[in-house]
Amino acid sequence: MEHKYLGYYDVVVVGGGTAGIPAAIKAARGAAKTLLIEREGCLGGMMSTGIPVLGTLDRQLNKVVGGIVDEISNELKEDNLSFGDLRCPMHNSITVMSPWWYRIVATRKCVEAGVEVVYNASLLEVRVNSGKVCALSFLAGNFIYDVDLQVVIDATGDATVAYLAGADYEMGQPEMLEGLVAQQAKNETRYDIGHSKKGKVQPVSLTFSLGGVDTETFMQYLKDHPETYKSPAGYGMHYDTEYLFNSPAIYVTCFGEFIEEARKNGDFDIPRDRVIFATQPNKNEYVINATRVVDVDPTDPIEMGKATNELTRQVAMLTRFFRKYCPGFKDCFLANVAQFTGARESRRIIGKKMVTKANIDALEIPEDCIAMGGYNCDVHLSGVGLYFQPIERGVGVPYGAMVPQNIDGLLVTGRAISVDSYALAVLRVMGPCLALGEAAGAAAALAVKQNISVADVDVKELQDVLVKGGAIVRL
Ligand SMILES: Cc1cc2nc3c(=O)[nH]c(=O)nc-3n(C[C@H](O)[C@H](O)[C@H](O)COP(=O)(O)OP(=O)(O)OC[C@H]3O[C@@H](n4cnc5c(N)ncnc54)[C@H](O)[C@@H]3O)c2cc1C
Repeated sequence: MEHKYLGYYDVVVVGGGTAGIPAAIKAARGAAKTLLIEREGCLGGMMSTGIPVLGTLDRQLNKVVGGIVDEISNELKEDNLSFGDLRCPMHNSITVMSPWWYRIVATRKCVEAGVEVVYNASLLEVRVNSGKVCALSFLAGNFIYDVDLQVVIDATGDATVAYLAGADYEMGQPEMLEGLVAQQAKNETRYDIGHSKKGKVQPVSLTFSLGGVDTETFMQYLKDHPETYKSPAGYGMHYDTEYLFNSPAIYVTCFGEFIEEARKNGDFDIPRDRVIFATQPNKNEYVINATRVVDVDPTDPIEMGKATNELTRQVAMLTRFFRKYCPGFKDCFLANVAQFTGARESRRIIGKKMVTKANIDALEIPEDCIAMGGYNCDVHLSGVGLYFQPIERGVGVPYGAMVPQNIDGLLVTGRAISVDSYALAVLRVMGPCLALGEAAGAAAALAVKQNISVADVDVKELQDVLVKGGAIVRL
């Protein structure tokens, strides 16, 4: 296959999803010549699915994520395409934005910042010289493009760049997962929490949205049947009526009673005991987060392909389930299906620092904090349930969690940073991933400007750059 030399870039961001977009914008705004390469035909990643951004406010409603996502959300709010940051008694906060308009504004901001974007690009090779990444190649159309670079930001979610560069990483932590399950099961009265055969990573899912919902009928059902949204006893968090009936947007978990009925009738065979869905800015449209395939290795394309086939079948089954059983959904239609199967967990790099359960339990915001998250601990288990426990206040991520311990010239951002499985379950949501992306972009631009290793970036200076841009690194 023919090679084309694309040139030299100060910063190359691989993956234009949740973390990759703010990473590229921030790097380019920091005067770095920036290239963004994305596997799909558009930017957005999980942000283009319509699921609400979690973790921008913590449990005490402190704002812990700002910066570029706020710029976009505030712009969308003017046209009623974002509800802004809203309190949620279960998830602490939800930030619901139109996925289509998020994509449009985010793409425009990349272009305005001077980011060059290549779509439908598949990463082939990462070249490392004396322990430092110096070049990479990707396939796009009928060509292999070669690029020289100073810093690469891995925003693939799967730490693919890090893996190809030979960075140390971990995946799964079965013993921790089993411990969490056992701990919650002690208090559990309502659900059987199964666990994975492999005990490896959380299940994969495909999200979709339903339009044409009769919201009034659905809301009346919630009002008349509070048992439908009652949390399992072990969670320690519960919906309240103020939120459900007065918030302009909600993310609600309910309808277990209809799943039971549908299961008996042979109309439901997904390993879930309830469905979760959220308001969209489009009137009477809800995004559904309820498909599930367990024991899948997200880094294995063959396994992911089989899972995607199964998840696509589940989308059809769930749509029919909603129409047949759920009040208000009788005339709903399938409005959108996410463009790729989402993984909640895959490779996590071993960084110069690692966020662990002990840091989360201590609610740490370290001195060298470069991004924060305000979410709870949320592990999708391989039975029907979740491990879901409150984290009482926002927590911080140290800069070193993005810096691989054994490879230079590389920053890893998004959900693949250096965390244990427990910290991943707190920081994997989009609020912290957006903040981590912005921090990676700012750090890469500083390293380029000063011609230093990413490991030597002055964290105080990095924090100043971030705070000037509206990001939050301390309470
Ligand atoms: C089903 C599901 C439901 C979830 N629900 C919520 C929720 O309600 N709220 C919430 O806040 N979080 C939720 N999460 C978690 C959250 O969405 C993700 O953990 C987070 O978005 C990860 O951000 P990221 O930037 O690391 O990855 P992504 O947003 O997935 O971005 C990765 C990007 O990299 C691209 N890419 C991947 N590999 C390559 C490659 N080799 N070359 C080029 N490009 C590549 C992808 O196409 C994608 O655009 C959910 C996750 C899943 C899977």
